[in-house]
Amino acid sequence: MTQQCDVLVIGGGPGGTPAAMALASMGKQVILVEAGSGLGGTCLFEGCIPSKILRESAHRLNEIRQADEFGLCLPSLDVGVNWSAIMQRKEDILQKRSQAALHKAQQLPGLKIVTGHAALRSAHQAELTLPDGEKQTIDFEQAIIATGSKSNYPPIHGIHHPRVLDSEAILSIDRIPKKLLVIGAGPIGVELGQVFNTFGSEVKMLELAPQILGRLDEELSTRLHGRMLEQGIAIETGISNLNITHTGDGVIVYYDDEAGNAQHSYAEYVLQVTGRSARVDGIGLENTAIAFDRLGIQVNDMLQTAEPNIYAAGDVLGQPMFAHWATAQSLAIARHIKGLPVQFPLADTNTAVIFSSPEIGIAGLTEQQAQQRGIDYAVAKYDFKQDARAQIGGDAEGLLKLIYETQSRKVIGVHVMVAGAAELMGEAALLLRAGLPVDVIAAAIHPHPTLTESFAVAVRTALAQAMPGKP
Ligand SMILES: Cc1cc2nc3c(=O)[nH]c(=O)nc-3n(C[C@H](O)[C@H](O)[C@H](O)COP(=O)(O)OP(=O)(O)OC[C@H]3O[C@@H](n4cnc5c(N)ncnc54)[C@H](O)[C@@H]3O)c2cc1C
Repeated sequence: MTQQCDVLVIGGGPGGTPAAMALASMGKQVILVEAGSGLGGTCLFEGCIPSKILRESAHRLNEIRQADEFGLCLPSLDVGVNWSAIMQRKEDILQKRSQAALHKAQQLPGLKIVTGHAALRSAHQAELTLPDGEKQTIDFEQAIIATGSKSNYPPIHGIHHPRVLDSEAILSIDRIPKKLLVIGAGPIGVELGQVFNTFGSEVKMLELAPQILGRLDEELSTRLHGRMLEQGIAIETGISNLNITHTGDGVIVYYDDEAGNAQHSYAEYVLQVTGRSARVDGIGLENTAIAFDRLGIQVNDMLQTAEPNIYAAGDVLGQPMFAHWATAQSLAIARHIKGLPVQFPLADTNTAVIFSSPEIGIAGLTEQQAQQRGIDYAVAKYDFKQDARAQIGGDAEGLLKLIYETQSRKVIGVHVMVAGAAELMGEAALLLRAGLPVDVIAAAIHPHPTLTESFAVAVRTALAQAMPGKP
């Protein structure tokens, strides 16, 4: 059987679904092929959403433990965790979201959603393999590849042992591990390490790089490292020569510490989160002129591959790998295909949140990146120790760094660590995208008492210091 469409979308995650829906609502005939069990991709089923659901339960647990500090008397502070209820809550939310996404997509007459595996045969034809093995052909005018990414498995002896879990597996684990060793202190490792630490696991993190969260602003990385130690998480950076051996009820991880001394640690489970790589295998790229390597598909500024009628979006392009980034690319591609005016997302204006405790928000350039590019910049800082909202919330440890060009005074970077930082990043996104100068922040009336005041106070303080005597 052969099907025809204007646009074939391969992958129903944040990189594929928004474009498919936008194009169908603009009158295109679209076929979206998704190999998994529903729309939502890694973000919904194995990433952003399930991890945040577990994190929310951990956060509530922490709040209950701190009740005393807020003048609340509980009958007992010996709070239990019903793990299967947490898992059930997670499943319920995922199902609800998946069904809602499908329902919304089904309202669009131009959009056909197919469960199956798609692989390109040429720049205008794909092979569709249905779950029962039946093969079909899809002819298309244009295509969007949004096949996402998969967990890396570095060549470490013993890494494929069943007690060594990746992020997907740990999000469905049937118990809270007594001892959890996390290999990789990137955003996912830090988030999940802290979550399981709150649930009662004894957590140790092993990181090859000299600092946790390698690409983060150094000052914030150091502060978070300190906080994690206070929370009882052991951290070793600069380690090497990892080797994993199975014992009766767990695993032993051998490694060399920063000084080169041989060490080992026992764990009931290992969480290995050493990064993700673009899913470029098995999708027929070799049948086209599309350039790609294990880091991802290569595209131009309009996200077109070397076959101009085939675009790519999201994790399959490599770093950065974020759901909102994939969605922004997806929507831009839809407008480009439709011939509408479009601003493609720019890496220097991207935002991200590390869902650590406390949270870290990142937007634009770090100080280190500004230095490397030879930019003449200044930094407006704010210490949350003096912040009303942070004090009321009970965690006033945090720092905001707002980086701006000295001449134009345009904001080029926002880096913040504080409980609730995630909700500050919308303002950061607007500042960067609109290329606003810090003077606008100083003049904007930020509501009191909120964490957003930090932006205005930081800027006013920095400007007053730069021009003493002038308000
Ligand atoms: C533990 C974890 C936590 C995360 N937390 C966050 C977060 O808090 N915030 C954030 O912004 N990002 C987060 N991310 C990253 C985010 O999930 C990804 O950046 C995002 O899902 C990328 O979207 P995508 O559409 O490119 O790929 P995916 O979401 O991976 O979707 C790709 C889809 O393509 C399908 N597919 C693949 N090959 C084929 C084929 N040949 N035929 C048909 N279908 C195919 C797959 O089944 C999949 O559904 C997290 C990731 C992980 C692993």
